[in-house]
Amino acid sequence: MKDENCIFCKIGAGEIPSYQLYEDDDFKVFLDLSPTSFGHALIIPKEHYKNLFELDDNIAAKALVLAKKIGTAMMQALHCDGLNILQNNGEIAGQTMFHFHIHLIPRYENDNTKIIFDQNSLNEEDAKKIQEEMARFI
Ligand code: 5GP
Ligand code: ZN
Repeated sequence: MKDENCIFCKIGAGEIPSYQLYEDDDFKVFLDLSPTSFGHALIIPKEHYKNLFELDDNIAAKALVLAKKIGTAMMQALHCDGLNILQNNGEIAGQTMFHFHIHLIPRYENDNTKIIFDQNSLNEEDAKKIQEEMARFI
């Protein structure tokens, strides 16, 4: 399924241009228009899925294999020193394009990219509550 108002559906179909790095029957990989680092790219499925929760299981499995393939090529081709794989779901989590995508962010010594979150200490009460609540749904 495609969403006619979705830019990433149109990029996937080649109706909107992109700096493409890779394409197969299911996916397109292209450069992010506002890169945080040299080589910052996005993997998208060609079909429209709003987020991870809607993603087809088969596509989900293929997506990580593809991230490994493209990430490995980035390490070789761009000589990056590391790689962040990032995937946002929901506005509060930083999602701005509501067509599932995976960020591949090559990292370099002394780059200016910052992916930061607070680190608090896990307490036993919270840990047990989380385990209990999660066990009801998994
Ligand atoms: P999100 O914040 O949803 O995880 O990431 C969306 C990403 O898509 C952003 O990094 C943004 O720069 C990128 N982006 C938004 N519109 C376009 C576009 O039209 N073309 C390309 N190549 N990237 C886009
Ligand atoms: Zn779409």
